[in-house]
Amino acid sequence: MTDAAAADIDLFVIGAGSGGVRAARVAAGYGARVMIAEEYRVGGTCVIRGCVPKKLLVYASRYFHEFEDAAGYGWTLPPPSFDWPTLIANKDREIERLERAYVATLEKAGVAIVRSRAVIEDANTVRLTATGERVRARHILVATGAVPHEGHVIPGLEYVISSNEVFHLPELPRRVLVQGGGYIAVEFACIFAGFGTDVTLVYRGENILRGFDDDVRTHLRTEMERRAIKVVTGQIVTAVEAKDGGYRAQLSGGDAIACDRVMFAIGRRPNVADIGLENAGVTCGQNGGIEVDAFSRTCVPSIYAVGDVTNRVNLTPVAIREGHAFADTVFGARPTAVDHADIPTAVFSEPEIGVIGLTETQARERLDAVDIYKAVFRPMKATLSGRETRILLKLVVDAGNDRVVGAHIVGEGAAEMIQVLGIAVRMRATKKDFDATMAVHPTAAEELVTLRQPFAQYRREAAE
Ligand code: NDP
Repeated sequence: MTDAAAADIDLFVIGAGSGGVRAARVAAGYGARVMIAEEYRVGGTCVIRGCVPKKLLVYASRYFHEFEDAAGYGWTLPPPSFDWPTLIANKDREIERLERAYVATLEKAGVAIVRSRAVIEDANTVRLTATGERVRARHILVATGAVPHEGHVIPGLEYVISSNEVFHLPELPRRVLVQGGGYIAVEFACIFAGFGTDVTLVYRGENILRGFDDDVRTHLRTEMERRAIKVVTGQIVTAVEAKDGGYRAQLSGGDAIACDRVMFAIGRRPNVADIGLENAGVTCGQNGGIEVDAFSRTCVPSIYAVGDVTNRVNLTPVAIREGHAFADTVFGARPTAVDHADIPTAVFSEPEIGVIGLTETQARERLDAVDIYKAVFRPMKATLSGRETRILLKLVVDAGNDRVVGAHIVGEGAAEMIQVLGIAVRMRATKKDFDATMAVHPTAAEELVTLRQPFAQYRREAAE
């Protein structure tokens, strides 16, 4: 159909994840007639098999250390035992509750939910594969997210699990090999280690978390190794074979690792396959995601895309913001572009990471004068517990205007800290503003406002 005026509805959203649900709800709030299609479960990756269940596993895994640490504070506990099936069942119940809440929110907003795969037929038509029905819409929003990247085909790839399956393992593996050095690999390596599993992390580069500040990368690796995680760098898994009821993973360096599970977390790719993009002439960019402008509009004026399927910044809050901005733009008569600069982010490793803004390396590349402030110290809680652990707090300052352009934290509470710190950084707070802020004592975060002496200063020589 080419006549948008003859549309059945105003908006058809493909994919009921974070971005799609927000867009559908807000558009309906503006009075649009909205339909949303979901082929799996309402809530998408974040709610069903991502951020939310992951954080529940993170909480569960941290009790291990809490029990250990309690002794130094005078507690005597019977040896704790852990039951994986109980955790998974409780986690599943919570996810079902959240899914129902998402459905209820959509229904309350007047959004029609269709449980089907949807395929674009042209600029204004979508076909529901479950029934063959065609729906004509003034606008189509693609919010199909991303899927785990499997990597190259290697012998035994069929034995490898991804972050999709890891939430449903029938039992806690005794030994796990995780391949990857990004968010998911690091988080799951720490989760499993927290449950007492013997963990090997295999990463192809020289150090984990490429793209993060180098001090953060080194600090976390040291902390992970303190927790007995074996970090193998500069290697990949070249084959997996089933052996003795478990698996044997062959590494490129020659070693073989015996384990009960092999998990790959080697990135995710935009979910663009078989959704009919080519039928309407929607193009993908070099990053593999749907190409969009600042308002999330594709090259086809009636079709928009938000979230991971566009492969811009693949984080839930970003998808939500993009979905909201789309609805404001198209149905609220308020053209809104999402600002992708200075996005705070956290890695729920143990200890966790919170970062915003420029790394030291980026600042030194981009700015003429950079001051680095840094504190590495033993957290107060670890004094009586005796735990060997350190917190890292680091500020990157543009010495030209005194602005804090980067903040990097590794330690308990880092995610919570960076959310609040993110406001200051986005408001262009200066180091003087930080210094003028009274400390909250005794906390770890107080170091952020008491860092007086630069750890390092870099000045670019003026060109002759
Ligand atoms: P990431 O992009 O973070 O990391 C992928 C890792 O896999 C990198 O270490 C990469 O190495 C490595 N890799 C890529 N291809 C191969 C290959 N063929 N063989 C071996 N290793 C390979 O992806 P994740 O899967 O960890 O997470 C996906 C996205 O989900 C993240 O980018 C993030 O945006 C989001 N996410 C956010 C979370 C949060 O906010 N806490 C939590 C989980 C996910 P190299 O560095 O060399 O490229």
